[in-house]
Amino acid sequence: MNARPDFPFFSARQGTSLPVYLDNAATTQKPDCVLRAIEQFYKTTNANVHRGAHALSRAATDAHEEARATAATFLNAASTEEIIFTSGCTEAINLVAQTLTFAHSFQPGDEIIVSTDSHHSNIVPWQMLCERSGAVLRAVPLTAELQFDLAEYEKMLTERTRLVAVPVISNALGLRLPVEPIISRAHAVGARVLLDAAQAAAHEPLDVQALGCDFLAFSGHKIYAPTGTGVLWGRRELLDALPPWKGGGEMISSVTFARTTYNKLPFKYEAGTPNICGNIALAEALRYVLSLGFPAIRSHEQALTSRLCSGLARLPGVELLGGSDGHSSLVSIHLPDVHHYDLGTLLDQMSIAVRTGHHCCQPLMLSLGITGTTRYSVALYNSEEDIDRALTATERALAMLR
Ligand code: PMP
Repeated sequence: MNARPDFPFFSARQGTSLPVYLDNAATTQKPDCVLRAIEQFYKTTNANVHRGAHALSRAATDAHEEARATAATFLNAASTEEIIFTSGCTEAINLVAQTLTFAHSFQPGDEIIVSTDSHHSNIVPWQMLCERSGAVLRAVPLTAELQFDLAEYEKMLTERTRLVAVPVISNALGLRLPVEPIISRAHAVGARVLLDAAQAAAHEPLDVQALGCDFLAFSGHKIYAPTGTGVLWGRRELLDALPPWKGGGEMISSVTFARTTYNKLPFKYEAGTPNICGNIALAEALRYVLSLGFPAIRSHEQALTSRLCSGLARLPGVELLGGSDGHSSLVSIHLPDVHHYDLGTLLDQMSIAVRTGHHCCQPLMLSLGITGTTRYSVALYNSEEDIDRALTATERALAMLR
């Protein structure tokens, strides 16, 4: 796969040195088709949606609702009404947590289960729900190999479990969770399941009907779309039954000072003017990914990740969290004698962009007894040369730090 020419970011800074970009789990660069879709929209179609009688507004509305259809295809949703545009994964999870709160769905003593390697955005909204409802948050521990502990999870599931919210792929460890058995076992006790697909959407096909989950969230900016975009998918009967969360234009059916009635799905959850251009650009990014195809993307990224892992594992004193096999598109390392921040700073000076810190996974770091890691994450435009440059720089940096 040679997708790099599709990304102007890598050619626009001719003459200046561009870092090897291995911070793709934080955010991705954007392909030309996405940049052109943004420019095209504002040059030719810009108008507000769903409101105007004029032709421009109809064109913008059509483009916006086509974008929803693309997102539905991307997730194999049963209907476009199950696709709620959000500002990102964080907002999508908060939407579910807040509407469940408004619906008084949780009683004192009800339980919500998350994973120890969950991102803060898939922990804190549930803690807030617990504070308001008296529900209890429980975290499934990881095994010694840092895998989600299915046996412990099974023991934790009871008739008090109302919701299970887990990542498909951990953003700090790069390991995939066994979401299929997680879902079926949660359903067996009558609990709902929300999947945080922030780190999965760009790297593996997501089929919500085959997965059988109840909610799924992802961010556009991690899949080559602009920041400020994202999708919440929810099963229609669940979204229908939950109350709206933000009030305003678009989400209403009729308003009087005495009483307001609410719009149908998906507009019930999209108060105010949506991120029209952003959502259209998100659909362009999804089509781009689908046009390359997940089989090709996966085999390219898997080869790069394996090269990265085996190269890092060869460096003395480097511990790969979760071992050297089975990582999705990212790997975190820990060095007992070198602070992750020092390594990251030296790598930056050598033009290698990686992420250091707790990766919004402080409970995971606490459970591991460390303050942070150095995380290398690949995308479809990375090359073997990027990996080799990062490995050489890491070796040099470690020699300087020891
Ligand atoms: N979940 C996971 C697993 C993530 O990696 C991230 C982003 N790092 C998020 C949720 C939150 O995504 P965003 O900040 O784009 O809303």
